[in-house]
Amino acid sequence: MLSTPHKPHSHGPRSHGLWEATAPAAPATTALDGHVSAEVVIVGGGYTGMSCALHLAEAGCRVVLLEAREIGFGGAGRNVGLINAGLWLAPDDVSSALGPDHGERLLKLLGDAPAAVMALIDRHGIDCELERNGTLHCAVGASGLAEIREREAQWQKRGAPVKLLDATETAARLGTSAYLGALHDARAGTLQPLAYARGLATAVVKAGVTLHTSSPVTKAERKDNRWHLTTSGGSVDADWVVVATDAYSTGPWQMVRTEQVHLPYFNLATKPLSPELLRKILPGREGVWDTKTVLSSFRMDRAGRLVFGSVGALRYSGTAIHKAWARRALSRLYPDLGDIAFEHEWYGQIGMTGDALPRLHTFGPNAVGFSGYNGRGIAPGTVFGRELALLIKGEKTYAELPLPVSDVTPAPFRRSREAWYEAGAQIAHLV
Ligand SMILES: Cc1cc2nc3c(=O)[nH]c(=O)nc-3n(C[C@H](O)[C@H](O)[C@H](O)COP(=O)(O)OP(=O)(O)OC[C@H]3O[C@@H](n4cnc5c(N)ncnc54)[C@H](O)[C@@H]3O)c2cc1C
Repeated sequence: MLSTPHKPHSHGPRSHGLWEATAPAAPATTALDGHVSAEVVIVGGGYTGMSCALHLAEAGCRVVLLEAREIGFGGAGRNVGLINAGLWLAPDDVSSALGPDHGERLLKLLGDAPAAVMALIDRHGIDCELERNGTLHCAVGASGLAEIREREAQWQKRGAPVKLLDATETAARLGTSAYLGALHDARAGTLQPLAYARGLATAVVKAGVTLHTSSPVTKAERKDNRWHLTTSGGSVDADWVVVATDAYSTGPWQMVRTEQVHLPYFNLATKPLSPELLRKILPGREGVWDTKTVLSSFRMDRAGRLVFGSVGALRYSGTAIHKAWARRALSRLYPDLGDIAFEHEWYGQIGMTGDALPRLHTFGPNAVGFSGYNGRGIAPGTVFGRELALLIKGEKTYAELPLPVSDVTPAPFRRSREAWYEAGAQIAHLV
């Protein structure tokens, strides 16, 4: 039941919005108090950390997971919930940036990643509003149509079940004729992101992981060939450290954050639509986004709320500007919605890397992590966590992972670019 009472998240309605209001409870957890030893200590309670923890614990490994705030505090509890296959970059661009070996390995892993998420959800009976009907990448104008046509060719060459829908079929799927076509990706789907994170946490605890929340790691030292991590209330020593803190990194691995430029992204959720509107608007419940640079996305939740999002932060002058724009944009797409109220509003920060590719970093012997998901973290985080488990169990080498190990490279002019993203989104949404 999604309405199970739960303890409030440690942050406000503008950070986790609808997802906080409708996710089942997280397992009961406490802060780390005292000293514990483990084989592996995982830092970060999002998809990457919890998938890694689960796959290690299922193989009999002793794991401690430390989360600074609550499960799903980072991107995992704030996102749109699109279980995408692949990255923002078109497949051929991934292959030329990484070379054919890593490039094609990464594309294969990420192309199959939504199926891995769905299998994990099924295996652990996670109640997270999973919809398996794919996603629709919608073409705005002739250049948008050319872009998705090219993506279709590049994915089909790799055997992926993607199909370009013409304007008529797109209109039938969406209930609006605003787009010239759409690329349907049958591998993909949608879910309730915080419910998925909390469901993973429940599975992690059942598998025997010691999971502590409200336990920010503040110090990491290597002594006697082991890692020693310190939190406000305790410490952990372990053979391995997995750094799974990504765009919300604090403490010893803040450098991961300095490599990324934060792109703010907001979502607004309507009240549940009437049965008549639900028959017209997105009846197949696919996840949708468009080809614009300042893009829009939309999807349904299980109760039939339309969740509509775009680039921008709901703070300062941004709140009024983005909400007024969203109302105008929605009524252009769906005039039948009239003046429908928004029940929930929230936003988060997407960590963008310079080349739009994720990163694999090491932070000393036996200290490793993936980061830099560029707004594609549900499926990638889940399978990257599993890859790290394989590495730690000795079933894969670094050379067999989907990305080469790279150094952390701070993004130039990060703060000013972040300010520009926030201001630029407001300018775009004034018209
Ligand atoms: C608004 C928004 C929309 C998005 N939409 C989508 C989407 O539709 N589809 C998609 O696939 N992806 C989407 N993403 C991206 C996705 O949410 C992230 O890529 C994903 O959450 C990354 O997972 P993660 O586990 O690596 O990191 P996170 O989920 O960010 O978790 C990291 C955790 O580490 C913890 N942490 C940080 N520092 C410390 C410390 N020192 N000690 C202990 N814990 C620490 C944080 O509190 C946090 O809980 C979106 C992101 C945002 C913000």
